[in-house]
Amino acid sequence: MGKEFLNLTDPDKVKDVIKNFAIIRKIEEINFAETYGRILAEDVHATIDLPPFNRASMDGYAVKAKDTFIATEDNPVLLNLSEVVKAGNIPKKRLMEGNCVEIGTGAPLPSGADAVVMVEFTETEEGNIKIYDAVAPGENIANRGSDIEKGNILLRSGTLITPDKIGVLSAIGMSLVTVFRKPRVAVISTGNELIKPNEDLKYGKAYDINSETIASAVKSCGCIPIHSGIAKDDYNDLKAKISQFSDADIIITSGGTSAGAGDVLNVVVEDIGEVLIHGISVKPGKPTLIGILTKGNIDKIIFGLPGNPVAALVVFQVFAAPFLRRMAGIRGYKQRKESIKLRLSRRYHSSRGRSQYVLIKIREDQAYPILKDSGAITALAEADGYFEVPKNVEIIEKGDKIDVIPLSRL
Ligand code: AMP
Ligand code: MG
Repeated sequence: MGKEFLNLTDPDKVKDVIKNFAIIRKIEEINFAETYGRILAEDVHATIDLPPFNRASMDGYAVKAKDTFIATEDNPVLLNLSEVVKAGNIPKKRLMEGNCVEIGTGAPLPSGADAVVMVEFTETEEGNIKIYDAVAPGENIANRGSDIEKGNILLRSGTLITPDKIGVLSAIGMSLVTVFRKPRVAVISTGNELIKPNEDLKYGKAYDINSETIASAVKSCGCIPIHSGIAKDDYNDLKAKISQFSDADIIITSGGTSAGAGDVLNVVVEDIGEVLIHGISVKPGKPTLIGILTKGNIDKIIFGLPGNPVAALVVFQVFAAPFLRRMAGIRGYKQRKESIKLRLSRRYHSSRGRSQYVLIKIREDQAYPILKDSGAITALAEADGYFEVPKNVEIIEKGDKIDVIPLSRL
């Protein structure tokens, strides 16, 4: 029995179809401490000047710069110590000529002062301070608004919030942050042979690999898997499972995507939506289905990944992941390929006609192709990433540079 795909679609064409999917992003306001790994949904403007006041950027003595102009290592200037201002305190007096104020980094500069002499260039002498170095006006101070002025843009919408960006939010005392709501993804494995991890492995059965593999790959794209489980190779069961997750933004299934006996996804999608792609000219990953579910109030994309776990993961990364990241609102999702250039450890022969994705492991900055059957689970155990061989390329020489894409990103 041949499994028929009437029209294998070119991978570039498939990517174009996916790029044209309309996206509706929802937003939510969350506490800034919870924003790690989230995506900003609006520009963040500075709500205050930074720094908020003129302050010392070094420990030392606040001075009038002109009082220090003649100071040298051999001929220090003697200034009267009029006050001590530590970080967190405020100066009480105006600085007068011939005086200085001991000041801590981050403490407000007293009025009348226009520079700070670093403590390293000073010496205390009976309540007076010897200054061994001349400073210019503005030296070792950070003026109000010199970092950023109130009202200017600090962070742009679409920024991935990492620890450094949380630092920025903290600096302006922002407590509530508007981020994109994480898209919700239902992940469904299909196959009568599939069983859950805690079940006994009876003859003819296999543990479900794809549910949790794909669910965690979904997380790595900034989305939430709201369900992961198994459906039977049965029209009613699969249709019920797909329809059940009406609050999912996307449905991702695996298995049952061929046009063979027992493969029902095609029929289900035809009935409750439209099959856009059925069969992609790639290896692995030919039996992939992409469709749109139109029953219900909002159109929903469905990715039907191949059942073979290696193929499922590769097809997810190549076709579904960019869409998920775009839905999640990650800016520059197109550019964020994050591939690494590595040299190929050996000559690689590709099969003609289809684009090929080859799993590799990385050892000492070289990419070693994993030459195993695409059903081999040990391939997943070894794999660090994959590279693409375009359909018109047959041979890649040992030592050639290739773009390796990690299988997943944290
Ligand atoms: P299918 O695409 O349904 O024809 O499945 C192709 C191969 O992948 C078969 O050997 C299936 O048993 C296997 N397979 C399908 N889905 C899964 C899954 N979720 N976990 C492990 N193996 C699977
Ligand atoms: Mg199957």
